[in-house]
Amino acid sequence: AIEIVGLNKWYGAFHALKDVSLAMPVGRRIVICGPSGSGKSTLVRCINRLETYQRGTIRIRGKEAASTPGRPADGRPEVGMVFQQFNLFPHLTALANCTLALRRVLKKPAVEATEIAMRHLERVRIPEQAQKYPVQLSGGQQQRLAIARALCLDPRVMLFDEPTSALDPEMVREVLDVMIDLAKSGMTMICVTHEPGFARAVADDVVLMDEGRVVEISPPSIFFTAPRHERTRRFLEKVL
Ligand code: ATP
Ligand code: MG
Repeated sequence: AIEIVGLNKWYGAFHALKDVSLAMPVGRRIVICGPSGSGKSTLVRCINRLETYQRGTIRIRGKEAASTPGRPADGRPEVGMVFQQFNLFPHLTALANCTLALRRVLKKPAVEATEIAMRHLERVRIPEQAQKYPVQLSGGQQQRLAIARALCLDPRVMLFDEPTSALDPEMVREVLDVMIDLAKSGMTMICVTHEPGFARAVADDVVLMDEGRVVEISPPSIFFTAPRHERTRRFLEKVL
């Protein structure tokens, strides 16, 4: 479970997150949307400790996350993250992208690391691509590889930051299908995405951010058809 209370972040003088609070019990799936610059990536990066913040708390499983970046010392990470731009290791095969952290961080023997990696490549439906390099994969395959790589470390929560927005339209579906499978398996997820289909299929709550604030938190049935806030209505007119 993740509990965010009164989170504030400044980039220099710029106030990027303003009193953001969000409660996420285990198994909850949350979709975050909002206009460009509203603080979506900043929020997700704070949860993953890629960014520092100045005020407020982020508790993960009851433990307060240090407000400084860092990697968990023990094996299993609290969160896994998938980025818009894949962030794969270009000089490693798909398989090696997956096994690297298993071997280096978790100190798994090669055979076991390969077995875990292949299981996750199968889960994202690209086991036949294991020996290829990222540049030899389609965008959709690359993003599914990024998902498999994150899953290999068995994170408790998965964060996605616009995972389909760099993809050609015909590849969006295959990535969303993998994310929907993952959601249905019970994974706790926070997804920054403007894909209403995904939100309707799996989200428990949809969050609208605007100018660093959480404006609305509603289940998709309300969010997309009868939002509580005028700001949400205006946003939906633009994206839907
Ligand atoms: P997008 O939909 O375009 O990805 P976003 O909602 O993810 O937007 P953020 O990337 O979180 O928005 O940025 C929020 C605000 O913080 C923006 O105004 C941005 O210019 C600013 N910002 C983000 N990163 C930095 C940084 N490293 N230094 C200074 N300002 C930053
Ligand atoms: Mg962003």
